[in-house]
Amino acid sequence: MKLDQNVAVITGASSGIGKVIAHTFARDGAKVAICDINMDGAEKAAADIRGEGGDAMAVEMDVTSEEAVNRGVDEVAERYGRIDTMVSNAGIQIVHPIEDFPYEEFRKLVTIHLDGSFLLTKACVKHMYPRKSGSLIYMGSVHSHEASALKTAYVAAKHGILGLARTMAKEGAKHGVRSNTICPGFVKTPLVEKQIPEQAENLGISEEDVVNKIMLGETVDQEFTTMEDVAEVAVFLASFGSNALTGQSIVPSHGWYMA
Ligand code: NAD
Repeated sequence: MKLDQNVAVITGASSGIGKVIAHTFARDGAKVAICDINMDGAEKAAADIRGEGGDAMAVEMDVTSEEAVNRGVDEVAERYGRIDTMVSNAGIQIVHPIEDFPYEEFRKLVTIHLDGSFLLTKACVKHMYPRKSGSLIYMGSVHSHEASALKTAYVAAKHGILGLARTMAKEGAKHGVRSNTICPGFVKTPLVEKQIPEQAENLGISEEDVVNKIMLGETVDQEFTTMEDVAEVAVFLASFGSNALTGQSIVPSHGWYMA
């Protein structure tokens, strides 16, 4: 098994991409901490993994709370003895043209993605540095490299995550910690399902055009990336055998963005 005994902290793991990463990691032998603001969802996801014979714990964590992040990560280290892999994945989406974008919604989105990733990194490296080992994985997006209308907050936050991850590659190196970003194209999750009608209304086009022209228009084959595709990249990054691969972004996106 590629991740035998690997201890992974995964945020936003009660839904969508994070949940599939957690299941995939557990099937590959990892002990996974399902960290989410939605504790019912986290308990259910952890119970499902245990039901499949895996090892998982649920952790209540609002990634914007320094106290909750520190407490949650310490709880995982106490239970499983160490932290090998961090997957900073919790996120939301809010779309508006800038003239209608409430500042408080901009702040909310940026705080969850960017402050959340900063706080989680700080809490995890405390456990990784003394052991001279660890893999930091950030959930970026094609929007870490490209821009789309209506997404000032999301594009700014996802570009910021790339900067955080690259900086951590430099800071983490002497402690044996590598740092990389996964940058998926559109994946059909609750976060994306919600955007389709919102974008259709904002742009004055049909929902079909939002999918075929806006979301998949730049892909090479008009296909959605899947949660399993993203999870496989996460397993690859978590299990990579050396620190040669650090400071990189990997873009599973059906060729929408070619790095
Ligand atoms: P999702 O809505 O299915 O899952 C997001 C999870 O984050 C939920 O479980 C939610 O409860 C949790 N969450 C939200 N706020 C939180 C907070 N403050 N603290 C802790 N947890 C919180 O969404 P998803 O599509 O699976 O997105 C996961 C990540 O992947 C996000 O960072 C998103 O930006 C990124 N991403 C998604 C796509 C896509 O097309 N779906 C593409 C590229 C990147």
